[in-house]
Amino acid sequence: MKKRDYYEVLGVSKGASEAEIKKAYRRLARKLHPDVNPGDKTTQKKFQEVQEAYDILRDAEKRRAYDRFGHAGRPMMGFDPSSPGGGFGGQASSAGGFGGGPEGSSFEGFQFEGGDLGDLFGNLFGGRARSTGPEKGEDSRGTIEIPFREAVLGGTTSLSLRRDRECPRCHGSGRVGKEVCPTCQGRGRTAEVETVRIKIPEGTEDGGTIRIPGKGSAGARGGPPGDLYVTVRVTPDPYFERRGDDIHGAVPVTVKEAYAGAEIDVPTIHGTMRARIPPGTRGQKLRLRGKGVRNPRTGQTGDHIYTIRVAVPKAVTPAGLDAATLLDSLYEEPVRKDLPRN
Ligand SMILES: [Zn+2]
Repeated sequence: MKKRDYYEVLGVSKGASEAEIKKAYRRLARKLHPDVNPGDKTTQKKFQEVQEAYDILRDAEKRRAYDRFGHAGRPMMGFDPSSPGGGFGGQASSAGGFGGGPEGSSFEGFQFEGGDLGDLFGNLFGGRARSTGPEKGEDSRGTIEIPFREAVLGGTTSLSLRRDRECPRCHGSGRVGKEVCPTCQGRGRTAEVETVRIKIPEGTEDGGTIRIPGKGSAGARGGPPGDLYVTVRVTPDPYFERRGDDIHGAVPVTVKEAYAGAEIDVPTIHGTMRARIPPGTRGQKLRLRGKGVRNPRTGQTGDHIYTIRVAVPKAVTPAGLDAATLLDSLYEEPVRKDLPRN
C-alpha cells in the first residue's frame, strides 16, 4: 500500500499552521480513536496513519525533514494487527517514535502514557463523557524583558496578552437556547486582552521560563484552562555582570590606595559594601561572600567579585614624574618577567 501524504492524511494544506494541524488532528483523532471504535481494524489503521502524520507535522524539525525528503527520509512505523491488542510493535526510532510523550516512553496497545496524548485524551476518552467531555485549554506562551536587578532580586511585572476565555454569554456551550451564540459565533470562547501579573522569582536567569498555571486558553466544556509559559529576557546591566551565581564588577582605585591599601566602597546588587583592599593590590579579583545571586534551586548565594583597576592621573607633572620614578625603583623584579617569550 502506498503511503499517503501526511498533509493529505490530516486534510490540511502544506502551509498549515501549527494550530491548524493540531486542530485537524484532534478532530480526526476524536472520530477515529480506537476507544470509540473498538475492534474496527480499518479505523485502527486510519487512526494510526493520522497519529503518524501528526507526530511528524507537529514537530518543526521533523516536518522540515518530511517537506524535503518525504517518507523516504525516515523508517516506517511497524503495525502488526496480529499482535495482542492489535498494538503498534514497530521499530523504536526517534523519528518514528509513537506517542507525544518524551522520547523513549513506551507505547503498547493503546495505553497512552503521559505526555501530550495523555492530556489530550485523558479527558476525552478516560471518563464517561467520551468525545463531549471537558477538555483542558491550550497552553499559551509569552516573553517578558526585565531589568537585571529585578531578575537577581525578584519582583513582579505584568504581561498583556490575548487570551481565549470562556464566552461570558453562553458560558462555553457555543449556544444560546437553540441559536448559535452571537457573542462567540459558537466557538464557546472569546479572545480578550488580559494583563497578567507575573512574579519574578529571585535569581531568575536570562532565557528562563516561568509557568503561570491557569492563564492559558480557556478549556472546553468545563475543562480547566491551559497554562501560560513566559520566557524571560534579562536586560544586561551596564555595570554588573552575572556569571553563574556570582556577580562581577570592576572598582577603580588610586595608585596610593593600591599601594598602601585602603578601605573603599564597593557597589553590589545588594547595596554598597565597605571593603578593605590589602597593601600592594594590583589587578586582583577580590570577593565579597554571599553578595551575588541567590540560587532558588540550591538555596545558596553566590559572591560579588570585583576587579581592582588602578587609575593613573592624566596630568604628567615634574613632581608626578619624580614620584613615579621613585615607585619604579621599588619593584623587586621586572613586572613583565612572566610573559611568554615571542
Ligand atoms: Zn458564546
